[in-house]
Amino acid sequence: MPNDVDQIKSRLDVVDVIGEYVSLKQSGQNWKGLCPFHGEKTPSFMVHREKQIWHCFGCGLGGDIFEFIEKFENVDFPEALEILARKAGVELSREVQPGASNKRTRLFQLLSEAVNFYQEQLKSDPGSSARQYLASRGVTAESISSFALGYAPAERDKLANYLRNKGFSLEELIAAGVALKSERGPGIYDRFRDRLLFPIFDVQDRAVGFGGRTLDPNAKEAKYINSPQTAIYNKSFVLYNLNQAKSFIKDSGYAVVVEGYMDVISSWQAGIKNIVAVSGTALVSETNYSKEEGSGFKYEQVKLLKRYCNEIRLCFDADLAGQSASERGIDLALAAELEVKIVALSQGKDPDEAARMNLVKFKQEIEQALPIGEYAFKSVFKKVDVKTREGKKQAAKFLLAAIAKLPDPVERDFYIKRLARDLDVEEKSLRESLPNPRMSNQISAPVATPQASRPSREQMLSERLIALLIKFGKEFWPQTTGLEPAMLTEPEAELYRQAHLQYTESQRVDFEELKRELNYEPTYNRLIDILGLQAEHEFAEFTAAEATKEFNQVNRELKLNYLKRQLKLLSDAISQAERAQQPGELEELSLRYREVADQLAQLQR
Ligand SMILES: [Zn+2]
Repeated sequence: MPNDVDQIKSRLDVVDVIGEYVSLKQSGQNWKGLCPFHGEKTPSFMVHREKQIWHCFGCGLGGDIFEFIEKFENVDFPEALEILARKAGVELSREVQPGASNKRTRLFQLLSEAVNFYQEQLKSDPGSSARQYLASRGVTAESISSFALGYAPAERDKLANYLRNKGFSLEELIAAGVALKSERGPGIYDRFRDRLLFPIFDVQDRAVGFGGRTLDPNAKEAKYINSPQTAIYNKSFVLYNLNQAKSFIKDSGYAVVVEGYMDVISSWQAGIKNIVAVSGTALVSETNYSKEEGSGFKYEQVKLLKRYCNEIRLCFDADLAGQSASERGIDLALAAELEVKIVALSQGKDPDEAARMNLVKFKQEIEQALPIGEYAFKSVFKKVDVKTREGKKQAAKFLLAAIAKLPDPVERDFYIKRLARDLDVEEKSLRESLPNPRMSNQISAPVATPQASRPSREQMLSERLIALLIKFGKEFWPQTTGLEPAMLTEPEAELYRQAHLQYTESQRVDFEELKRELNYEPTYNRLIDILGLQAEHEFAEFTAAEATKEFNQVNRELKLNYLKRQLKLLSDAISQAERAQQPGELEELSLRYREVADQLAQLQR
């Protein structure tokens, strides 16, 4: 008996459904139109009848008809199901009961069982080290329960066995991101082992993934690992704790945005309830230096917050990674036309510490968050001696860049005057060196996604690389030497890694076979389909020479970007080590800096 989703899909055509909302023109096998999800003048929104999917090459969104309705109508899956059932004339089988073959529903049920399991483990004997850790960080029993904190036992497949006894299949466990396929032989193993678990919920209060913190201070593995992107977990559209915080955000008129899970929990306990975190919910992991995987802020997340408020207050870590995250957050929030303020922490290395050190002061600092112009002035004048000529130059350069970003011309004017006065230089000369004002207009426009979020170029290159490999793989696989998965963005990197394994084993790559090997995990399935589509769309007319040229360019740029980013991170780390006077660390970092610089020079030759 076909289920509701399949029945609806069999009766509706993706071109007709989307055609009701977007004007589409046929182009070859595909249909094309202006993307409804980002502003554009030339169509990059493609609808593919044969595969019944849509995809935008401008902003990267895509999916099936359900995902289109969810995004366009801003509704969740059950509502989209109702809307499309009406269109299709399908009567919904009223009880969408457990055991129904609806895949997404099953995944939500699975995650919810996993949350229960981990919570029970935290209460039991093996959970004692996790309980001790929480106690040492002052986390109360009430918080443990309201954040549904849990503990993943150290055994290889305890969760997997538990869930299989509940009737979930191996494929479902992998698709939900809680288990991984064993690399040797059959079987699977739990993704999270011996870790404190922070479940991540979507706005509708459904668990969609986990962040896991190691409890072993000497562990070789990453301090934090997070669930992968799955059919129910789109990291761009989830913010940690938004499910609990949304009504408080509405009431207070602003959201406090922090980096980590613990930042949220400590602040929440202290009565700051309009708080969310970006941690574990970002697609791109920046660096091994940042304390939790991927503290980047996504444009979609900013838009999500905009449903509830018009102002965000960024309260990121006091270190350099935190500061650069702040800068990116500012750009994104301005792009979404949100007001942005910065919470300048005067105590503690992060909000978690600040809340525990002196709560009154921490609350005050949130209350008195600074507008970005104000914050830029304060931080520059603290760091730079503006009595010297060099200091003046530095301060002017930095502050003019900050001023140029302000969307309001009046505010820009205000700060230029103030800068002239504070530096004792002529206003006119400052105005002349103000970076291009058109740039700042662009940033203030809501269409500014691509240039506002730095990873997008790398994402585009990563996608292009895979698309080229799908279409011209035979020629190009031998030339991928030196191109590491780490140089690509996720999820392309994982796909590339798996494909490369296949290539090493058999000297050939079959992407359809790869889907099978990856257990048809939706993320990769779709990625392969979409990038195949992109390859058809963009490279159909390419001659062999053109394809080679394109491949070499993409290959080289990915390597260059990676090395440059490494250098930047290393030089940041070096200045930090200098300031902290750690000679051993400094020597080690300098050595690595030289190595990477050499590689870069070779590539640029
Ligand atoms: Zn788009």
